[in-house]
Amino acid sequence: MPSHDAPSHAPADAASPARFLALLDYDGTMTTHECNEIVLQRFVGDAWKPLEAESKADRMSHAECFDRQVQMIPAPRTQFVGALVEAAEPSPGLAEFLAELARRAGRAAVVSAGIREAIAAFWTREDLPPIDIYASELIGEGPDAGPPYHLEFSPALGDCPRCGPKSCKAAILRALRRPGDVVLVFGDGASDLCPAREADLTFARGHLAERCAAEGLEWRPLPDFTRVWADVDEWLAQRAASGH
Ligand SMILES: [Zn+2]
Repeated sequence: MPSHDAPSHAPADAASPARFLALLDYDGTMTTHECNEIVLQRFVGDAWKPLEAESKADRMSHAECFDRQVQMIPAPRTQFVGALVEAAEPSPGLAEFLAELARRAGRAAVVSAGIREAIAAFWTREDLPPIDIYASELIGEGPDAGPPYHLEFSPALGDCPRCGPKSCKAAILRALRRPGDVVLVFGDGASDLCPAREADLTFARGHLAERCAAEGLEWRPLPDFTRVWADVDEWLAQRAASGH
């Protein structure tokens, strides 16, 4: 239902408000640093890096890459998960972005291969609004659910020749998208390329930014979240002016 609240500050919204669906990667997108990489470096040294290179070159699925990296971690569960949460610093403007999305009656979901336990702890610590989290379960086969670890990815992920079986984030986009939604995708890595290809507008950092540029996708840089709504409103106005 359209809201009867005060009109949005965006003129393009006034006649027919856009309905937003925002799909957000977690690590390195909503956080200022790559927490998984920081924590891998701390516990296994450089041993994680060759796998990362394989994934970036599309020779290994990002899902298999992260699973194999997590298998290397020898630390007890509380230490491993605690280090992931400790390393996570929210990107400037994230809380305000989510608050404005809620004000515009938009929907959001975290779509990540990362560890759900760590993302949920970050969310609670930062007092962010409730959100659906599609992420991985950390399974520890040792004492106290500790190492050796492996990952069980979200069952909502789909099959894809690029990402591998049951590993593609675009399946979640297709499941959540309703007709007329304006889909915003936020990401930084190879795993975000498939949803970016199906998004209306992508906000990208790092490797994903290079891939979006190379493929000529509709995208904007994401240094942080402070300019996102300004970029979205500008893009909506351009789209309205071009008659789409
Ligand atoms: Zn895919």
